[in-house]
Amino acid sequence: MISLNDYAALVGPEVIGQLHRLAERLGPRHFVHINSTRSGGGVAEILSRAVPLLNQLGMDTSWEVIHGDQDFFEVTKAFHNALQGFKVNISPEMLDHYREINRENARRFNWEVDFVLVHDPQPAFLIEEMRDRANHWIWRCHIDVSRPNLQVWRFLREIVSQYEASVFSMSQFAQNLPHPQYLIRPSIDPFSEKNRDLTPEEIQTVLYRLGIDRDKPIILQVSRFDSFKDPLGVIQAFRLVRRHTPCKLVLAGGEATDDPEGPRIFAEVMAAADGEPDIQILLLPPDAHHEVNALQRAADIIVQKSTREGFGLTVTEAMWKGKPVIGGAAGGIVLQLQDYNTGFLVHSPEGCAFRIRYLLHRPEMARRMGQIAREFVRQHFLITRHIRDYLTLVTLLENPPSRIIEL
Ligand code: UDP
Repeated sequence: MISLNDYAALVGPEVIGQLHRLAERLGPRHFVHINSTRSGGGVAEILSRAVPLLNQLGMDTSWEVIHGDQDFFEVTKAFHNALQGFKVNISPEMLDHYREINRENARRFNWEVDFVLVHDPQPAFLIEEMRDRANHWIWRCHIDVSRPNLQVWRFLREIVSQYEASVFSMSQFAQNLPHPQYLIRPSIDPFSEKNRDLTPEEIQTVLYRLGIDRDKPIILQVSRFDSFKDPLGVIQAFRLVRRHTPCKLVLAGGEATDDPEGPRIFAEVMAAADGEPDIQILLLPPDAHHEVNALQRAADIIVQKSTREGFGLTVTEAMWKGKPVIGGAAGGIVLQLQDYNTGFLVHSPEGCAFRIRYLLHRPEMARRMGQIAREFVRQHFLITRHIRDYLTLVTLLENPPSRIIEL
């Protein structure tokens, strides 16, 4: 098992020492994280790694997942789409169903804790039913809410306002709320199966199993099949590049149990690819971490052409693997890709095609960009920093700001 001390080799022993000091200062505390899926998507990815490490630090931390039916996840996906700016129709009955499923979940939970961190809108309403069960309620938003649909945001705002604090990934997402808002960047775990170093043989074995030939440079996007990830735009960009420069496109994606739109978008992507041999579309199971790792390491260029993005862990993962990344200039991608330095930002399929071609013709620049990207991730987006931020946040909530807090 990976121990917290193993991270010292990457981030320095002083960072690990600081984590221990913060945790000791807090003393034994019960901390619960709640979200809506155990696998698939960035939130599950982070929780699967952060929860064991918080336990290693002496915080009694658990991870609860709310249950819901198909209708519930249709409503919450509509919330998600609306908060990222789409027009959606949500009826009063749908809102009732959302509340009812949260009430049912509240009846299932029987813990009493110090801190609850509720991730995203799906379980947000639990606070109505369970307020007395925790000393501190924090709402963590992972979504790109830079331009939310106001009708849906007003509904959610009323619920979220009951929390003591909320957490967003960047200042552009902060909202008008009656409580403090904290900005915490997400992170990746360098020792997870998704990110650990792989041998060339391990990479080759996965490629062989997935039927991917390395006869041409590989352009890769890894994403849930979701329209905000713009897989159709990636195919369009690829076709523009391929007219002049040989390469192949791999679109790898899976499904998340809390995202009912996957099959529809997947069908659209299959239709757009139209059986072209140089476009490979992989539908991966949610636990295909090793496969995603190998694909990212095998790729020559990694794309994340999102039009809205809460953060984009796939970008962080690719940068950590020393890859040049081309990302849509949206949400949290902008925090990671500094144009011309740690990666490239693009605004259209044409722009994406231009940058793919640019990098394919400049392998030395692509290599340097990847090195800079990896160092940027090491400094800012590894899980040790994320855990420090969470420990600092709960310390602040236990010590109202008028007091002197020695961290
Ligand atoms: N992911 C995966 N398999 C897939 C698609 C995505 O393991 O088929 C992972 C991906 O590697 C990343 C996470 O799911 O760790 C997606 O996080 P991101 O922040 O990029 O997007 P989200 O899905 O949360 O919008």
